[in-house]
Amino acid sequence: MTYLPNQNRYQDMEYRRCGYSGLKLPAVSLGLWHNFGGIDSLENARNILRLAFDKGITHFDLANNYGPPPGSAEETFGRVFKDDFKNYRDELIISSKAGWGMWEGPYGDWGSKKYLVASLDQSLKRMGLDYVDIFYHHRPDPETPIEETMGALDLIVRQGKALYVGISSYSASETEKAVAVLKELGTPCLIHQPKYSMFDRWVEGGLLDVLEDKGVGCIPFSPLAQGLLTNKYLKGIPEGSRAAAHRGNGAIDENAITEQNIAKAAKLNEIALQRGQNLAQMALSWILKDKRITSVLIGASKPEQVTDSIGCLANTSFSDDELKLINNILAY
Ligand code: NDP
Repeated sequence: MTYLPNQNRYQDMEYRRCGYSGLKLPAVSLGLWHNFGGIDSLENARNILRLAFDKGITHFDLANNYGPPPGSAEETFGRVFKDDFKNYRDELIISSKAGWGMWEGPYGDWGSKKYLVASLDQSLKRMGLDYVDIFYHHRPDPETPIEETMGALDLIVRQGKALYVGISSYSASETEKAVAVLKELGTPCLIHQPKYSMFDRWVEGGLLDVLEDKGVGCIPFSPLAQGLLTNKYLKGIPEGSRAAAHRGNGAIDENAITEQNIAKAAKLNEIALQRGQNLAQMALSWILKDKRITSVLIGASKPEQVTDSIGCLANTSFSDDELKLINNILAY
């Protein structure tokens, strides 16, 4: 059936300015790392994407290698885009990335100009797009000169294949260097995509300060620690969950469901309930309380999870007492 988006889609979403730029992103963005591959249900993927757009999520995050198989999440997105979103291209921010292994041989991985330019061309074909809104270098490359990698991002913008560029998983010092090189080239670094959740707070050790200082936005990935920061695993590993799926490629498995993690999640859940939230919502609010954060980048295996997670926006401030309690739980 022809999709007609919700007419009130912009009513409840919050949009935050991305660093020192003209671009605003929804406070909650949706990533297609899991559940949008060739092995997944197209109907479910379509329902998640439609629901997200209906709720004001204008930003969809992809990468060349999302699937499985690699590339198939972009194909799924391209299919749904063609059927449902084509008329709304100017309401959408679509991101892709290259930096992890994508094809055989020396030109399908890391950070050379050869890899980045070819990979984005492939991504555009898979998605049926003329350009992406944001193109990222997916991880730092210790061997390629940063001038070359950033030069490739600059070139891609000048070619009109991406409007903005970003970096992912760069350390604070690598970020400083990348931002400086991009600035020199005349293409600002729009955004950084780091891993950040209550269970992984490395960005607090310097990266967030660098981003604020340089006017770069921040969109944390895996803010729910892939589902650990929800009430899903409090009573074991449910069938159909990510930890039960054994997808590899950095996805959590049962080894992540430790007694310690579950004990922490159970205690955090109690605080969430006192705040009128569930744990997933509190975990997202906790990230969004920091104004340096542009957007939290969630994943979802069902449309209802998107609805549930967006509920975090009802309360993104924390009292000092709540923050102290949370820090105590996370510290042990
Ligand atoms: P999350 O931490 O949000 O985990 C998503 C998973 O949590 C879902 O698949 C689902 O698990 C569970 N979940 C989500 N919402 C709820 C809810 N309301 N209640 C209960 N369970 C819920 O993020 P991801 O790890 O999926 O990462 C998000 C995005 O970040 C990716 O899609 C990708 O775009 C990006 N990313 C970027 C990386 C990078 O290197 N730059 C690396 C990793 C991710 P289940 O499937 O078990 O139902």
